Amino acid sequence: MTNAPFLQALSVTKTYPGERMAGVKGVSVDIKHQRVTAIIGESGSGKSTLLKMLYGLLSPEEGRVEFKGERVWGPEEKLIPGHDAMKMVTQDTDGLNLYAKVWDNVAVLMPNTDIKDKHDRTTQVLKQLNILHLADRQAFYLSGGEKQRVAIARALATRPEVLLLDEPFNQVDTSFREGLQQDIRQVVHDTGLTVIMVSHDPAEVLSMADELIVLKDGQIIESGSPKQLYQHPQNLYTAKLLTNCNVLSREDAAQFGLNAKADHVVIYPEWANPTGSWTRKDFTIKQLLFKGSYEDLLVQKGHITLRLLNDEPGKYQVGDKVHVKIHKFLEF
Ligand code: ADP
Ligand code: MG
Repeated sequence: MTNAPFLQALSVTKTYPGERMAGVKGVSVDIKHQRVTAIIGESGSGKSTLLKMLYGLLSPEEGRVEFKGERVWGPEEKLIPGHDAMKMVTQDTDGLNLYAKVWDNVAVLMPNTDIKDKHDRTTQVLKQLNILHLADRQAFYLSGGEKQRVAIARALATRPEVLLLDEPFNQVDTSFREGLQQDIRQVVHDTGLTVIMVSHDPAEVLSMADELIVLKDGQIIESGSPKQLYQHPQNLYTAKLLTNCNVLSREDAAQFGLNAKADHVVIYPEWANPTGSWTRKDFTIKQLLFKGSYEDLLVQKGHITLRLLNDEPGKYQVGDKVHVKIHKFLEF
């Protein structure tokens, strides 16, 4: 038992009737203990279905899920669906009692057998999620991001070993998301929690996850660390999920002196920079997107539009002519 893998899906299949045979097909995953694993993929690729099977909310038609070497039972086989050592948080915060205070929303989940422990644990999770100052506020008056923090605090209250997150940050303002992501990473670091998250925000998975699993049409097409998949994606699909990349045909790429053998040439924004010093200024700046320490430039030449990164904000204006220097590309 001690050497059993932490959490595994072994060739699990769950399909839904229909012409596309949507669902998850023969997927095996090995979830590492005390790590953050992110499942990414376009909408409908089977992310939620896989997550629900790992948790025991859905039974695989084929294959099995094992937690520490023991079968995870599906909803048909268990009175309260979902594995006892796991908790799941989704976008909807329906579980919250809007008429109760934040404190009570969390405390209610713990038994009254040890009042001191109940008090201490409630304080601890509210602190971990940085909402202790909201303890006396009625949940009704919280912002979307604060509600999401309470939902996660509730999930953590009973000390699950695994926290499953199904795109829980979608309702949270971008500016608050980062803080929430950091706080969850801190909980993982401090408590040894294992997190499995589904997300389609590249910035989020790249900064939060230790391991990425890429799903396409219900199957895993690759997996690895964020760095590995970002720098060396094996598929165009993965590059598009993780970056705001430019995709050119081989013919168009040839115009820039990029000689590719494959059909698609991928250029990340940071691999292409504007240069003003060149005599051949053949691109026109169509749009400037100010990002603080850098700018995203949309530049155009004929039918080709490229997104570039400019690390000297303010240097260019819309309408300026520039030359584009491409120093790296991938081909698929
Ligand atoms: P994702 O979370 O990646 O968007 P899902 O796992 O929710 O994808 O769904 C995968 C595919 O299965 C989708 O095409 C979806 O329409 C279909 N699907 C999911 N749940 C059901 C269901 N209960 N009945 C029929 N089709 C479903
Ligand atoms: Mg989903």
